[in-house]
Formats: sequence, structure tokens, C-alpha cells
Amino acid sequence: MAKIAINIATGSLQQQEIIVGIDLGTTNSLVAIIHPESKKPVALKEHNSSSLVPSVIHFGKNANITVGNEAKQYLVSDPANTIFSVKRLMGKTYNDVKNNSASLAYKIIDDEYKLVKVQVGNIFYSPVELSSLILKELKKQAEHILKTPVSKAVITVPAYFNDAQRQATRDAGKLAGLDVLRIINEPTAASLAYGFGTSSNSSKGGEQAKTIAVYDLGGGTFDISILNINGGIFEVLSTNGDTYLGGDDFDAAVVDYWLTENTFAGEISTHRQILRLKAEEAKKYLSSNELFKTVYEEKEISISRENFEAVIKPIVERTIASCKNALKDAGLKKNEVDEIVMVGGSTRVPLVKEMVSAFFEKRLNDTVDPDEVVALGAAIQADILAGNTTDMLLLDITPLSLGLETMGGLMDVLLPRNSKIPARASRQYTTYKDGQSGMKIAVYQGERDMVKDNRRLAEFNLTGIPGMPAGMPKVEISFLINADGILVVNAKELRSGVEQSIEVKPQYGLTDEDVEKMLLDSMEHAKEDMDLRALTEAKTEGEQLLQTTEKFLQKNFDNLTRTEISETSLAMQALQLSLDMNDKNLIQTKTEELNDISRPYAERIMDYAVSKAMAGKKI
Ligand code: AMP
Repeated sequence: MAKIAINIATGSLQQQEIIVGIDLGTTNSLVAIIHPESKKPVALKEHNSSSLVPSVIHFGKNANITVGNEAKQYLVSDPANTIFSVKRLMGKTYNDVKNNSASLAYKIIDDEYKLVKVQVGNIFYSPVELSSLILKELKKQAEHILKTPVSKAVITVPAYFNDAQRQATRDAGKLAGLDVLRIINEPTAASLAYGFGTSSNSSKGGEQAKTIAVYDLGGGTFDISILNINGGIFEVLSTNGDTYLGGDDFDAAVVDYWLTENTFAGEISTHRQILRLKAEEAKKYLSSNELFKTVYEEKEISISRENFEAVIKPIVERTIASCKNALKDAGLKKNEVDEIVMVGGSTRVPLVKEMVSAFFEKRLNDTVDPDEVVALGAAIQADILAGNTTDMLLLDITPLSLGLETMGGLMDVLLPRNSKIPARASRQYTTYKDGQSGMKIAVYQGERDMVKDNRRLAEFNLTGIPGMPAGMPKVEISFLINADGILVVNAKELRSGVEQSIEVKPQYGLTDEDVEKMLLDSMEHAKEDMDLRALTEAKTEGEQLLQTTEKFLQKNFDNLTRTEISETSLAMQALQLSLDMNDKNLIQTKTEELNDISRPYAERIMDYAVSKAMAGKKI
């Protein structure tokens, strides 16, 4: 294990290398740094432009990909090839997002329980690949402004992001050529930007613990997080919110108001689209004026601050209800919250500030630009990691990721690099063969996607698993790193209680240069690693489907029609052929086709089996 200040700041790379803070947002993203002279955090921007880069990607003709403001213009003219709100898809399965997929103009594809992919033309993109395109653009813009290479970053994520979503964000960074030193929570970053949790603030306010509510209302999402800060450590006590609530709803409420107050000839939906832009303009104007007027279709339309507030009040009330729930989950009363921090463009609306302040009965922290506050906080965290803020607490961290080998030789990370130690993580695995009585557990260290490119630390066999069909045993594997940096790997089959464990010293024999070389290798090979991982996953899935279909056919041959059998065997041949060709997109298409053919009769036979079983039972 290593101290952050040694591992990250004193490698053989340049001493003064800049580490940027990145707010990778649903609608907009931005980059901030600590200004080398003023030592204050600043958001990066080109002259006379905004620091915000729209999180939008356009796939044009001849593989011409654009990101940001230019891509945003295609949202209306080329919606099928213009991808937005990728953040909502990070680490999600199709099942997680299918109910909201109607709001996306582009095509998302996959089987129910598998990770979502976005289809553009005949290519499937993972949310990780798409996010990496946004990060690449941010990196490029930052390098242009700073006139120096940028390769290290701290990236923020919502406090409610789970492990898979955080790992996906890390992977996106890696794919964009960034060494992601830390993933930090957005509310933590916002609190840092207000100076909470840093020693400069604790010397002002003493060392006592503080409770902070971070209210984040953006364009399309609302989050409230309650944090506790003690001795420089941030703990998330609770989070609440609505991933489909934000400033866009204010705009829609204004449009509805205009449509009820006025009558316009023609299609309502066309009016809506044009009026939406005017509504956003009105909303922003009313943040500092009393009356907004404009002309539409030769009519004067207007809205006063009072009417605006009346139409958006129910929306703001929904956010207050979430605040109540968050307090309840944290087990706190509102007078136990010490500070309220405001984040997101929509907190510029005066009614929002009034209602939040009235609810918590407290003054708000709203002096930092609400669009920039998260990125500025990420830059402060980056500076701490660079070792520039020496009066901050340094925590022990893992210098490289630790994980296990899974099907196809893939690395499955349980403890990502830079995890604070002591650390613990566990995950459940199962067998892939009927009656399998043993399981090989191989532990690796490193950042590459295939275990063969990482460092093998240990291997042992969990034996004595009682005979069960494939997929039935539940083997929980846990990693525990104690304060001395010793890793204990434990494997337990939960149904039978069979258990085994092993001790490993992860860093044995690794110098700082070795660690650095492994990191650089992983960035250099990020793209090919990612492709190989995607291909291996697609192949594993395809091969498993072939096996289960084969088994199913043997068992249920008599219950299938002749057409079903011939269609299935044709689809199986096509899938086998795609597997032999090693073509990821083709394998995915053929897997889906075979699934589509077998799903109806598999369901029919299942239903029949269930009703037969029920028929014999007395209820
Ligand atoms: P964010 O997702 O944090 O970038 O927030 C974007 C949202 O903030 C959009 O709905 C904007 O319309 C809204 N917004 C930006 N500026 C203002 C303003 N001055 N008054 C009200 N809303 C604003």
C-alpha cells in the first residue's frame, strides 16, 4: 500500500503535472483546475465562451464524430444519430431503463438483464465508450486552453451511483486516456468548493463534525444528499431525488401556461417545440426581472414572475418532499443540518432558493456559481491528491486494482485502485457446469481487462461444492485488505457453507516504477482491452445461449413445432458462424435473433409446466 502523496505525485512523471477536476454531467460537463498563481479553483473556458460543454455526441457521415456545442445542434436535425443523457445509462441494464427509453430519440438495445447499448447505424456503443468520447473532448479542450498535456483527473459521480456505475465512469476515463485518480461524490465536491471539510475551514469553525445538505437541481435531474463531515472524511448519510425532475419541467410548465392563456392555429406539438426555447429564456429572465414579454406568431405573449412562480410551485414542492425523505432516512431533524449547499443551474430561480431556505429554516450557501461548483470541488480534491495541500489528511490507498479471473480470462475488479484501506468488497459468483464441485479462484492485481496482462497474486481451489445444476451454487468471494495492506481472500458457497480463504501480500516485490508502468500500459492498451472485453463478453453470452438452447431442444423436442425446430437450428448455425468469425456486433445480433426465436416457445413450455405442476396441488 502507499500514501497518496508518494504514489501519485512523486512518480517519475513530471512533478508539477496538472490534475484536473471533471464534472461529467447528464446535460453538461466541465473541467476545473487550481489556478497555479491564485491557488483558487477555476473552471476552464475559451475566451468569451461558457465553461459548460454539452454532454452530447453526434455521429455524422464518414465516421465524423463531434461532441459538445456543435453536436447539440443536431439534436433536432438528426436525432437518431445524436446521443444525449448517456449518464442515465451508465452501468444500467435494458430492464432498468426501458420504461424511460421513449424519451430518448436514439435506439437502445439489449436483452432484458444485460448492460444497455446504444445503436447508431449498425454499430453498438456502450455507455462507457460514449462517455469516453465526452471525456476525450474535455481533455482535448483542457489541453488546448492549458497548452500542456492532461492525463490525470478526478471525476465526480452522483452519491447514489453504485459500484458498477462508478466502475463504468472509471473505465470511460481510462478509455479517454485519463488516469482517474479518484471518483468522488458530486455533493462532496460541492461541499469542498465551499471550503467544508478542508482544514482551512476547520481552523475557522473548529474541528467538530458538520452535517451538510446538498440540494442539486439541474436541467433534468434532482438530487438531495445529506453528508456528514468529520476530520476531513465525508460520509453520505442519505440520498433522495428524482432522476426525471428539473429545470426542463419549469420550461414545460411555462409552455402549458402560454398554451392555456393563448390560442394558436395549427399543430400544438410544433408550438410546444418552439415555445419551449422561449420558455427557457423567460425562466432565466425572470430570475432577475419581474415581467417577460415576447412576440410569437404576431401575438404578444408574456408571463410575470408571480405567474411563473405559481406554475412551478408544485414542481419545487416535489423537491421539498424529497428533502423530507432524505432527512428521515438520515435519522435527522432539519435543525440538525448545519449547512445547505446549492448546486445546479435551476437553483438560480429565486422561488427555489426561498422554498429551500424556508424548509430548512436556514440561510443557503449559494455564492459559488451553481453550474461550476461541482467541478471546482473536484479540482480541490485533485490538488489534495497531488500533495499540494499538505495540511489535509492523507489516507492509505491501494495503488492498483485487485480482482478475480472470470469466464474467458476477464479481470473482474473487486477493489478498484485508489480504494481507501482498510477496505472490503464482496461479490457472488456461480458455476457454469452441472455438478461442478470445485471452483478455481485466481486473484490478480492491475488495470488491464484481461488477466493475462495483469499480475497474478494467488490461486486456490474452492472444493467440495455439493452437486447442483449449473448456476445454482452461490459462491461469495470477499476481499479484505487490513490496515497493514494484507489481502485476505475468502470464498464461501452459501448454500452448503463450504469455505476457504487465503492471505496475500499484494504489493510484494512491486516498486513505484512498476506500479506506474502498469498504469501507463493500461492506458496505452485501453481501446484494444475494451474491444477484447466486449468481444469476450459477447462470445461467452453467445456460447452459453447455444448450450442452453441445445439442452432445451433435447429435452422439449416433442413439444416444438417443425417450424420452430428448423428456425431455431438455422439461428443456432448463424450464431455459431458469427462466433467462429469473432465479430462482436454480428455475435450480438445473432444472439438476439436466437433469443427472439426461442423466447415465445420457451415461455409457452414454462407456462405449461407450471400449470401442470399446479394442477396436481390442492390449494
Ligand atoms: P445544469 O443541469 O446544472 O447545467 O442546469 C441546467 C438548468 O439550469 C437548465 O434547465 C437551465 O434552463 C437552468 N438555468 C440556467 N440558468 C438559469 C437561470 N438564470 N435561471 C433559471 N434557470 C436557469
